Formats: sequence, C-alpha cells, structure tokens
Amino acid sequence: MNPFYVKRANLPRNMIENSMFEEEPDVVDLAKDSTAFPVYPYEVVYEPRSSRLLVRGLGENDMDEDEEDCESSARLLGMSFMNRSSAHRSNSSPYTRQAPPRSCSRPSARTMVVCVLFLVIVASMTMVLYFLPGYFLLFVCHTNKTTPIETVYPISTNGKLFPWAQFRLPQSIHPLSYDLTLTPNLDDMTFTGRTVINMSVHHNTNCIVLHGANLNITKATFKVGLEGYKPRQQIAVKVSDDLKTGQYCVLTLHYSANLSHTYDGFYNSSYTDKDGKKRVLAATQFEPLSARKAFPCFDEPAFKATFQIQIIRKPNYMTLSNMPKAKSTTLTSGLVQDEFEKTSVKMSTYLVAFIVADFTPISKNVSKTLVSVYSVPEKKEHTDYALSTASKLLEFYNNFFEIDYPLKKLDLVAIPDFLAGAMENWGLITFRETSLLVGKQSSPLEKQVVASVIAHELAHQWFGNLVTMSWWNDLWLNEGFATYMQYMSLQTVFPKLDIGNLFLAVRFRALDKDALNSSHAVSTEVNTPEQVEEMFDSVSYEKGASILLMLNACLLGEQQFRKGIIQYLDQFNESNTDTDGLWNSLTQVSTQHLNVSEMMNSWTSQKGFPLVTVSRKGDQVTLTQEHFLLTSDNTTHTSSLWNIPVTYVNDSCSLAPECRQVFTLKTKSGTLKLPESVKWLKLNYRNTGFYIVHYGDEGWDALTAALHSNVSVLTHEDRASLIHNIFALSRLGRVSFHQVLSLLNYMSNETETSPVTEALLQLSNIYRLLDKRQEHGLVSRMKDYILDHFRSLMDKQTWEEEESVSKQELRSALLEMACSLNEENCTQKAKALFKDLYMCSSCMYTCRIPGDLQRVVFTVAAQSDEDWDTLLHMYAHATYDAEKRKMLQGLASTQNARRLVWILKAGLNGDLIQTQELPLVISRVCNGFTGYLFVWDFIQENWDQLIEKFPVGSFAIQTIIKSATSQFSTQAHLDQVQGFFSGLKERGSQMRSVQEALETIRLNRRWMDQNLSTLRKWL
Ligand SMILES: [Zn+2]
Repeated sequence: MNPFYVKRANLPRNMIENSMFEEEPDVVDLAKDSTAFPVYPYEVVYEPRSSRLLVRGLGENDMDEDEEDCESSARLLGMSFMNRSSAHRSNSSPYTRQAPPRSCSRPSARTMVVCVLFLVIVASMTMVLYFLPGYFLLFVCHTNKTTPIETVYPISTNGKLFPWAQFRLPQSIHPLSYDLTLTPNLDDMTFTGRTVINMSVHHNTNCIVLHGANLNITKATFKVGLEGYKPRQQIAVKVSDDLKTGQYCVLTLHYSANLSHTYDGFYNSSYTDKDGKKRVLAATQFEPLSARKAFPCFDEPAFKATFQIQIIRKPNYMTLSNMPKAKSTTLTSGLVQDEFEKTSVKMSTYLVAFIVADFTPISKNVSKTLVSVYSVPEKKEHTDYALSTASKLLEFYNNFFEIDYPLKKLDLVAIPDFLAGAMENWGLITFRETSLLVGKQSSPLEKQVVASVIAHELAHQWFGNLVTMSWWNDLWLNEGFATYMQYMSLQTVFPKLDIGNLFLAVRFRALDKDALNSSHAVSTEVNTPEQVEEMFDSVSYEKGASILLMLNACLLGEQQFRKGIIQYLDQFNESNTDTDGLWNSLTQVSTQHLNVSEMMNSWTSQKGFPLVTVSRKGDQVTLTQEHFLLTSDNTTHTSSLWNIPVTYVNDSCSLAPECRQVFTLKTKSGTLKLPESVKWLKLNYRNTGFYIVHYGDEGWDALTAALHSNVSVLTHEDRASLIHNIFALSRLGRVSFHQVLSLLNYMSNETETSPVTEALLQLSNIYRLLDKRQEHGLVSRMKDYILDHFRSLMDKQTWEEEESVSKQELRSALLEMACSLNEENCTQKAKALFKDLYMCSSCMYTCRIPGDLQRVVFTVAAQSDEDWDTLLHMYAHATYDAEKRKMLQGLASTQNARRLVWILKAGLNGDLIQTQELPLVISRVCNGFTGYLFVWDFIQENWDQLIEKFPVGSFAIQTIIKSATSQFSTQAHLDQVQGFFSGLKERGSQMRSVQEALETIRLNRRWMDQNLSTLRKWL
C-alpha cells in the first residue's frame, strides 16, 4: 500500500519524524516547551530529566482536562468508574492523572506518599534491570498471558521497540462503541477525523493496541506514549499504569489523512457527467483490512461494536452511511454536519461504510425497511430493476431466515470506481455500476448478473453481518453461504433467470482449482495481510457453496437444512462464530441423527476433494476413494479420507429425484450391491456432490454407449458432469484422450446448455494451449473437430432478441466459439450487425444488438483496424456500463500489437479505461497469441504499479497472475515465471496464486508431453 504523508501543519514541534503516526505526545501537553519530549513513556519514568516533565504535567489546567475526559467518558458509557480499587491507585505512577477514566480525582496525600515510595523502589529496580538481558521486556504490552521470553519485538516507526509482537491484536481490550467524525475535503482529497472509542478491559494490561494505517494522528487523549508499527498497521497506546479487568475506558484520537487513490479505505472516485464535467466523490471499501485507513480501530471481525457517525460536507454534496440520517446542522463555516443514528446492532469494522457524493435515489418500503437504490444522477433510469429485485429478495430472506433484516433502511449504491463486484456493508451495500444498473432494454442474461450480485449481498446481511466469522480463516462462513444463498434464492424467487446452469459451471471451476496441490482447506490458517486477501478465492466462495449444496442434498428435505441455519443465526446473532458452530447447529436439527460435524469436517479441514473410483463384478460394486490431486508424487501423497454421501442412479431409473440412492463412503473403500441386470451406473446425481468419479474403462464405455443411443437417459447436469469429469481424469492421466473423444462423439445430438458449454470450455482450453505452442497443424485439426461436432447446433442459433436465459447462454457460447474459429457464417453476421449498429447511431436511430451477442459482435469488429477505431469511439461515448464493458472486451481482443500495448497502458493509467477493468482487459488480451506474450512482459515491467493499485494476494492480482500464466506449457516459461516471482520477495513471491501458476504450467507441460502424439493420431 502507498503510505500517504500529509502536510504537517498544526503539529507540535515534537512530532515524530517520518512517522505515519505523527502525534502530539499527550493531550495534557506535558511537553509544550520541550523540544525533546520523549515519545516513549518509560523513558520518562526511568530518566532523571523525566521527573521535571512529570511535575509540569501536574498543572491545574491539565487536571481540568482530565476531569472533562472522565466526565465525558462516563457520559458516553452511562456509568461511573466505580470499580477502581485502592490497590490499583497505590500501584499508580504519577501518570495516573493523565489516564482520565480511571483517575478522576486528585490523589490523596496518602496516595502521594505511597507513590513516591513506589517510585523509589521502581527506580532502584530499574537500575538493576537496565543491565539485564531481559530489560526490553519492561517496555512491552503485558496482558494476562505471559509473553514468551524469546519474543522478538519489532522496531516502531520512531526507532523504539514496538510493545506488541503479533499480527493479531491482544484480547485485553475490547471496543464497545465508536464515535466517528469525518471531514473529507474533496477539493484537495484529504480528510480529518476524530475517533472516540469506548472500551472495556477484559484482562489487566498496560497498553491498548489497535490498528491505524496511513493516518497522521495529531492528538490523542488517554495515553502517555503512542507508538506505531507500520508493517502490521498497529498503534500502541501506552497507559501510565495498568488497566484492570472490568474497567471501562475511553480513547480519543484526532488525525488527518489523504483520501486513498486506490480502491480501499476512504477513497476518492470520479466520473464525467453528461455535460462533460468531472465530478468527484468519496466512498469506502473496508473489507478485509482497510477500516484502519479511515479511522483508528480494532480492525478484526470479532471486535464488534456500535458506531455513531458524523460527516461534515459541503452543501452541494449528500452523505450516506450504514444508518439513516438523524439530523443535519449547518455550521458557522458554511459546511453541513450530517449526523447518522447510532447503529442499532453491534458490527465488525469491515462493515462500516460512508459515502460523500451527489447521487440520486429511488426508494420503496419493504415491511419495516426503506429500500433505496442510488446512482449518479444521469443513470437514475437504470435503477428500477435493482430496486424491485432487492425488494423481492429482502422479503424472501426475511421469511426464509425467520429473522427480519434489523435496520430501518437498506441502500444499494452504484459507485463509478469500484474494484469488487459489490460489498455488503450493513445497510449501505456498494456495487460496481455493472453489478447494479440495468437498462430498460437489457437482456435477461444481464439481469441475471445483477440479480445474482444483489442476492449475494443481501444474504450477507445475515451471513456475515448478523453472524460473523471470528477470524478470516473461516471466511467461507460468509462467502460460501452468501454464494449458496444467492443461487438458492434466485432459483426460488426468479426461476426464469435459470441460475442453475451458472451454479453448476461454478462448481466445476471450484473442482478444477481444488485439484491443485497449491489449493488450501476451506478453513485454513491465516497469519498475514496477504493471506487474508488470498482467502477471497474460489475455495471460500464456490467450494464453500458447493459443500453446502452437498450437505443440503443429503439431509432429509430442504426444511431440515433451513431449520439448522435458523438455529445457527439465532444462536450467534450479533456475535461471532467458527465452522464448528455451524456444524453443531446443523447436527442439532438433523432428524436422521446425522453427525454433520463429523461428515463436514472432512470437507472443511483438509484441502482437495476425493476421486471415487467404481469397479464392478457382477452385482458387487466397489467404491474406492483417494485424493484427486493433479500433481502427485511421493512428497505430495496424502492419505486424506472424506465422508462422502455418494449418490447414484442407474439405467432403470435415472432422471427423477426419487431414482437417487445414497451410499455413505467414509473409509478407503466400500461395497454396494446392485441387481445384475443394471447396465450402467451414474454417480453424483446432478453433480450435487463435490467429487469426481472414475467409472473404469467398462463403466465409461457403458455410459458412452447409453448416451449415443439416447441423450435423454441422463439429466443435463449429469451429462455435463460426465464431460467435466472425463476431461479432469484425462488431465490426471487416468483416462486416455481417445476415451474423452469417444464420449464427446455423442455431442452432435446434444442441445442443452450446460453439457454444450462445458464441452466447449474444455475444448477451447486445449485449443488455446495448442495455439500458444504454435502447433499449427493440430490447431487447424482441432478447429475442424470442434466445427464438425457443433456446426449444426451453431447454424441453428438466431441473432434476434431471445427471452430464455438458458438459450442465451447456449447461443453466446456457440457463436463466440464459431466466430473465434473464423467460421464464415458467424463472422459475416457479426460484421453486418456491427455495421447496422454504427449506421443507426450515426443517423441518431436507436438500434440494438441483443445483450448476449454484443461481446461476440464487438470482438469480431475489433479484428479490423477501421472497426476497432469505430468501436473505441463508441466506447468512449457509451454510458450504459454493461454494454461498455463488452465493447472493452472486444477492443482487448485485437491482435494488433500496437493497439494491445495501448490498451494495457490505458488500463493501468485509468483515464479512458478505468483501472478497475484492468484484470478483465488482461484476461481478454491473453486469449490471443500476440496478447499473451505482451501481457507477461507488461506484468513484469509494471508489477510495482499493479500491486499499488491492487493489494498483494487480492482477487484482482490472483486473476491477473492466472490469466498471464495459465497458458504456458514449456520449461522456458516455467523458468521465467519462477525467476520473476521469486525475485519479488515480500512484493508477492509468497502468494498462493504464484504456487498455483507454477503448478499449472508444470501440468500443462506434462499434459502436452503425454497427449500431443495422441492428438495427432486421433484428431
Ligand atoms: Zn460476498
């Protein structure tokens, strides 16, 4: 992250040089005249000159300030600090006076005597301890837990020892409530803030450690010294004497900072309005670790608290935050102070949000909640769909969870610059414009995207916001659940959106990633900021959702799963939990006495998934399980076992849900009996389980023959699952590519979306690998192969508006493949449509290409120099974001080297092409042969700029690395990739996605070695 050192006006002379925690050492101004006031409090105690400072610190005025602090603390907390023990007072150093909440009254004469005596003892002990090796331990935070003697304390910003040595914060102090006042200045892109934190003491301690990043702390109360440790973004507030268990205290920090110019923290964003004028705004994105960039806080999900937020703005802006606005006051400066209601729920810091902008809303009441959708004024007409969708889904979730959404309002806001798809801030969900805005003529497929994102973020209001994972290791409890609920709710509320195909495809991709040795367990240890970022991956989201689907499918009836979820939400309402908490809730409601914990732990605590191999002798079917691991050698061999609810159907009954039978495979192998008359078995009915099945040569032959004679003997999900599994087994080396091709021979009779799209995806992966290896002969044979098998289906596709989502998915996949293979019918039609569109727009008519076909049309257009320029012109003037994004994908698919370089640079600069789109641009550029080599150079040259825009480990960086490297298949490329990333050190060499990239290249190389000759023979 880029640290911002803002102007240093108004800071006392004794501020810490080069510190991100620049500070006035104490609110009581002990060192008003001193140029050498020690930053670290213990020096005050132990050095003779400090006693002068101590005496100065006891002035009358200071006492008043102390008293005021105590009073306000008590007011805020609604209580007095009655639990101070006399023992505590006698232990106090004279600094007690500067620790407001605990020492409201002047020390008595007796206390003073005791204090002086105590000081003498301490001073003599210090003389001894100073020369002992353990000396430094005196200077560290102590909590009830004894700190191991070998702990190495880091050096803080000003060269002293930082008193806390761990990534996680100590548990001694818990925040109860925050009072935040923020004054953003959108003219010079800075802000100032005041944060008041009320806390309770859980264990005796002598300091408060919390988070803060890139904040210049200008003033703080309740402290004797303040230290910063930048690498962990921690601040330690040293208190003069121990805070005792059960006490309450208040910390106030004033600070200033720059608005971030990346996509996290309190960041600035801008857009150009319809008059061509640049408009600026400020918004927040705190998940996972960036609340600390906007205000000092205990920035871990388990430190839940309430928040009261005030924002001071210019009159021409509006503000939004998690809660409804309570009042607005015009200040003498002419600025307006908006005060929001205090949050009615306790929440984690990463869910706090605020926005200063000039947005306009549309609103609607849904039971007790006012739902609003906000956008920039000129896009207001694109907000209707989001409002009606959010309203219906809110109603659905209120009923489904039997717990009403707890806030009075729910805002959904489209932000012009936004990196993620959306963010579930409680009561103030923020979105990318393409994830929220839908034009009047939008296609059902575009609506599906928006509805999915809304359904996901709304589910988070329960999973994540109401019940939160205790730590990021269990991120899947948030993301896996929200992903699962997103598909489940859409299937119920909007069946026409046909979300099932998408969910199936997503489960296949999760299997692909989890088959790598570089994958990780769903619930996995997380100890660094990069590891936190890396948790936002397909294992937490898609594998998480997949194992929930599997569990739901093996519980008796939807209602049991639902009951378990309700129980879980009830039990952990407004608090935090972990994976065990969820499984225990589900075990409690299981009527079939299923030990959910036992079963599901095998899926969450170890990485990967099982390969189930079927072998049959007469009526005996033996199922064997092993870890499906693409890279397996002696060092990676695992003896992992899963508790697998294996489902199966056979040729006598294979379609209806009643046909499904279940066999639980917990051990290495198990046997089931079947009537001898059964011709074939299909396991993993409708692919609801998270495993891959190998049927053995005979089993595959029987299934292949069955599909040849009648496609409809299996559900379309089962057909797609066979296709996915056989390609995966070929990659594993368990089936020959010849067997893959035999199965695919049935494809000429296939018309359903999910099997066709899965087959096309798998074939295009191979096609691209061959293309990148410049195996020209094989590339052209592969092209013929694909066209032979899919041409008749391609030719049947129409280019007019299509209502069915499933048909849109099918035709866009087929036509994109056909046009990318230069199939004449396809490219001619696409060119003609583009010409029509251009003519229409220049004659001021409105005509439109169906949403699902825009990408293919723009991609074909971008291959000609003239049309590329036209498309760029259209892109620059387009306002509807979904369409604009497809134009960008078209532009990025050019094979013209000069244009490719331009587009990558433009994405990095962020002027014409927003930097948020760079991962998309890169993945698109990589599809082509010219582009993928450019991208690799581009990434190496611009790495530092990339990680400045996107955090190391983030989903954006994961995408960029994957796009750039996943098509390499040679030793030379492997060496290059390895060499580059290992040279990065702390700038990214430790990322899991780097391991994944290297493993993928090795696998590609192996696949090529093993299959090139087969391909030459069989294609
Ligand atoms: Zn999410």
